Amino acid sequence: MDSKPKEYPVIWLQCSTCTGCLISILNTVSPTIKNVLIDEVIPGKHVNLRFNATVMAGAGDLVMGVAEETAKREKGGYLLLVDGGIPTAQNGGYGSIGERNHQPVSMLDRVIEFGKDALAVIAVGTCATFGGIPAAAPNPTGCRGVKELLESKGIKTPVINVSGCPPHPDWFVGTVASILLFGLPSADQLDDFGRPLAFYGKLIHENCQRRAYFDEGKFAKKHGDPGCLLELGCKGPITYADCPTRLWNSGVNWCVGSGGGCHGCVQPEFPDLLSPLYVKTIEIETLSKK
Ligand code: SF4
Ligand code: SF4
Repeated sequence: MDSKPKEYPVIWLQCSTCTGCLISILNTVSPTIKNVLIDEVIPGKHVNLRFNATVMAGAGDLVMGVAEETAKREKGGYLLLVDGGIPTAQNGGYGSIGERNHQPVSMLDRVIEFGKDALAVIAVGTCATFGGIPAAAPNPTGCRGVKELLESKGIKTPVINVSGCPPHPDWFVGTVASILLFGLPSADQLDDFGRPLAFYGKLIHENCQRRAYFDEGKFAKKHGDPGCLLELGCKGPITYADCPTRLWNSGVNWCVGSGGGCHGCVQPEFPDLLSPLYVKTIEIETLSKK
């Protein structure tokens, strides 16, 4: 019997990103990032990270060759991960990943090149899913999310969106583990924005520890006050994520729990349509008080 674990090759491209998404995911606690990358994250299954510009030791043609060779050899069988928005203006001239024939290859061309032959793409973080901060007005680099970009090119590779600025490590690890265990998610396991309902299915406002204050009409006037944070700009009433129950930093706290309010970082409207972040932009009259 062959006891070798089944390998899932992964190519991870970083485009217009602050690298916060990767840092968040590297901080996964259970499983640890070592478990994810070195061990069998699911018994009998192993993620083989073949390319990531931040964590790999090599550089230049050598590592680009590994990515290109992986895409060729594992056509239709590798996962492409992307964090950061994709700059599309000036024919992709605002960002490049490696070279070909001594010429830079744009992030735009790399996402298309590796996206078209992948088993699936996981867009990691709000920039890769919806454009996010690099796509904020006036968006001079023409940044777009991966799904929108691939669809505009007629590429039908499934794209799973794991939004967040940054995404919770559990959202990413859980999505990858689910693919390894059960295959690609079906349409009824994703929301209208292609996000796993397991993590993005519930409204923050309905699970918030300050919800009782909202129902009683008690609103904080300044940070540090008790009360609902709506008047201080909380976007929990229009944001879908499990932060109130999952918590961050291995269960330590979350945005509302720390008194800062939710910025709606997982939403496609983030940041432009949710700004200013600390100013009330949601009217109570529009909210259900059920
Ligand atoms: S508005 Fe924000 S702080 Fe107030 S109950 Fe809703 S999610 Fe919680
Ligand atoms: S509470 Fe809101 S701003 Fe904070 S991580 Fe969750 S979705 Fe993002």
